[in-house]
Amino acid sequence: MTQIIDGKKISQEIKDELREQVAEQKKLGKEAALAVIQVGTDPASSVYVNNKKKACAYIGIGSLSYELPEETTEEELLALVEKLNGDASVNGILVQLPLPAQINADKVIRAIAPEKDGFHPENVGKLVIGEPGFVSCTPAGIIQLLKRSGIKMEGKHCVIIGRSNIVGKPMALLMLRENATVTIAHSKTQNLPELCKTADILIVAIGKPQFITADYIKEGAVVIDVGIHRDENNKLCGDVRYDEVAPHTSAITPVPGGVGPMTIAMLMHNCVESMLQ
Ligand code: NAD
Repeated sequence: MTQIIDGKKISQEIKDELREQVAEQKKLGKEAALAVIQVGTDPASSVYVNNKKKACAYIGIGSLSYELPEETTEEELLALVEKLNGDASVNGILVQLPLPAQINADKVIRAIAPEKDGFHPENVGKLVIGEPGFVSCTPAGIIQLLKRSGIKMEGKHCVIIGRSNIVGKPMALLMLRENATVTIAHSKTQNLPELCKTADILIVAIGKPQFITADYIKEGAVVIDVGIHRDENNKLCGDVRYDEVAPHTSAITPVPGGVGPMTIAMLMHNCVESMLQ
């Protein structure tokens, strides 16, 4: 029987735990807030930003919303980040990507204080050497999905497809921290199906709709699908051809309702952690 890993349910559990923690902290007079900055009016970004605000309201932390016009300059955005860095009432700063072409996203990410963001190079360094620090939300969410679904990682061969800074690389480091044996596959990897067939846990962040077929799957493997796309009928789908692959797995994440909801839950987790420090 294939276990369908329920990201909606697990993310709800996490949000409920956080809500309790925040209520406890409020009794001690502590408050937390996340600042969310959006530049321009990309409709997908607006949906993400709204979901983040809703999650903040649910767990009981404040959300400060900055909706800046498309023509905002890099200097203006950096000045806002600087102001929020210095504001002790702000625990987390999220700049919604993508940013307009006139703004260098790397420069902005580096400008955010490391204790208020997961992408800062200082936090990436801490992850490499196994020190506590903010971890990129999507990979951290995948670890929670696996743990809370009772899936063991220790000693397992985990193949991760994708080496992006926000998903593939931090995912590999977190899996290593869980004592998995890790292989990272990428666009120059040879014999991808054969390699994937050696995976006990296959994490797919390739960014190509329904790319992974049953030919990539070892019978009984666990498959985590990070991709989010719209198919030709405008329905959400992942990087994995779910209907074909699921029967060959012992556990799999659906799209939607798998990895997606975890990202916001982990963002909330990071804000609460920072509140506790
Ligand atoms: P990306 O485009 O930055 O990275 C894709 C990776 O796939 C690259 O490292 C590349 O080397 C690798 N790749 C491309 N073609 C390949 C091939 N033929 N064989 C092997 N490897 C190949 O994407 P990303 O930002 O890491 O995101 C990956 C997917 O996850 C996207 O679909 C994105 O929308 C989704 N995503 C979802 C969430 C979420 O919350 N669920 C969060 C972030 C990203």
